[in-house]
Amino acid sequence: MARILITSAIPYINGIKHLGNLVGSQLPADLYARYMRARGHEVLFLCATDEHGTPSELAAAKAGKPVDVYCAEMHAVQAGIARGFRLSFDHFGRSSSARNRVLTQHFAGALDAAGLIAEVVQQQVFSIADNRFLPDRYITGTCPNCGYTAARGDQCENCTKQLDPTDLINPRSTISGSTDLELRDTRHLFLRQRALRDRLSAWIDSKTEWPVLTTSIARKWLNDGDGLQDRGITRDLFWGVPVRKGTEVWPGMEGKVFYVWFDAPIEYIACAAEWADATGQPDAAWQRWWRTDLGADDVRYVQFMGKDNVPFHTLSFPATIMGSGEPWKLVDYIKSFNYLNYDGGQFSTSAGRGVFMDQALSILPSDYWRWWLLSHAPENSDSEFTWANFQTDVNKDLADVLGNLVSRVTKFAVAKFGDTLPAGGAWGAREMRLVADLTAGLAAFEAMMDAMEVRKAAAELRALWVLGNEYLQAVAPWTVVKTDPEQAAAMIRLAMNLIRVFAVTSQPFIPDAAEAMLAALRTDDWSWPADMAQALLTLPAGHGFAVPENLFRKITDEERVDWQTRFSGART
Ligand SMILES: [Zn+2]
Repeated sequence: MARILITSAIPYINGIKHLGNLVGSQLPADLYARYMRARGHEVLFLCATDEHGTPSELAAAKAGKPVDVYCAEMHAVQAGIARGFRLSFDHFGRSSSARNRVLTQHFAGALDAAGLIAEVVQQQVFSIADNRFLPDRYITGTCPNCGYTAARGDQCENCTKQLDPTDLINPRSTISGSTDLELRDTRHLFLRQRALRDRLSAWIDSKTEWPVLTTSIARKWLNDGDGLQDRGITRDLFWGVPVRKGTEVWPGMEGKVFYVWFDAPIEYIACAAEWADATGQPDAAWQRWWRTDLGADDVRYVQFMGKDNVPFHTLSFPATIMGSGEPWKLVDYIKSFNYLNYDGGQFSTSAGRGVFMDQALSILPSDYWRWWLLSHAPENSDSEFTWANFQTDVNKDLADVLGNLVSRVTKFAVAKFGDTLPAGGAWGAREMRLVADLTAGLAAFEAMMDAMEVRKAAAELRALWVLGNEYLQAVAPWTVVKTDPEQAAAMIRLAMNLIRVFAVTSQPFIPDAAEAMLAALRTDDWSWPADMAQALLTLPAGHGFAVPENLFRKITDEERVDWQTRFSGART
């Protein structure tokens, strides 16, 4: 039994995420966690909301709520949706937790003690009316390049020119509209990533088994242009982790907070501490997952994320951990994803384009989405969601292949033999061939799951379901029963056990259907089919069962057209 720590990139608190976000980290992380638990390994699966920074301050202001109240409410909303998608987090934490505040301050102090923090005085735009420094993107003005009047301080959206706020003509505060702005000196802390460049580079080079998508992004940041840059880790904001040097005041940094990208990854650690707190365990319980001097030396740590998060996870967060000089666990494997596009364009949170997680659950149960998204995960390239493809694949894979097998076998069995598994008959050559095919197919499935090849794993799972259908097609118990009921009974007993095997192996993808299948079989034997012949003898003659409700219904053409129209515009 291995110990596996799994984290999903933590979603930002500001708003409900779309299906592209879901398939880019949380969902495949859940798939892997469920699979590893099913194989008997000890798993700690963590996710959280990323709560600090200006966007949540502004969203709270727009909602007319204090930012801490807003974040608590949105955390509850996101947690509810995660439950709806059956995301099996051991804990869904919050980056605004007391645990993260203490740990973030601790890391900053350790980095400073190691000589890896530089203090830099910069000039930044201060809004007198708002009584605050303004981040670049919260300053609006006229673009000096194209004359666009609503250009942002970091970039003109019209001509795409990169800008400094001081380039803007007639600059004003995006928050209040005030033009009463001035440049003021402000002191900030920088993490001296350049000093860690060689160590980070050697570490990335040692990760020869990582996907090219992951390492190529890391190398680009390490080597392109002037190479890895030192990174500002503080901001002049109200909402965040107050800057402290461990537990001490940091002179000159009063009233400032750590930049959200410094404290957010530390939440992976803090979340484990929150989990221990929530489950009434001592610190040792979470430290054995995170401290290599306290038991984490045999932990395998796997992170899941979209490709846009790779630089922070391959460089910034490892720089924090390495630079601390303390024995914290570094990530062992990073599984990163490309983007899922939506019906000829991109999913967009800001534009409200695509299907959002709450909307998806309002029209279909989570298994439909889980199956389609995972079997089309954007691994080697971007992939695209279209309603036509969704309808076709869900109807074919779930309704025609898996659902039909379960329905046909149980209905036939109850009609011909009653509501217990029938006795009599024995396996012949065709059954032995099925066992051999399933054994080989399961090994292929396991290999893909172990390798986190999500699409290929889905294809191997579907291939197992197809083997079951091919067997039933070939032996035709509905015909055999007329001449040799005992032989038909043996086929049905095997087919019933096959349903259990499919439930157990499919559970990481479609947990609700798997539960329904086992409930119909009146068993809670979730044991993995390590020996396929043995597994197909698990439920004996005389074991009771029920015909389950239709596991998967088909998506109709009318629904497809309706949803395509309903989700074509911006979310309101
Ligand atoms: Zn412009």
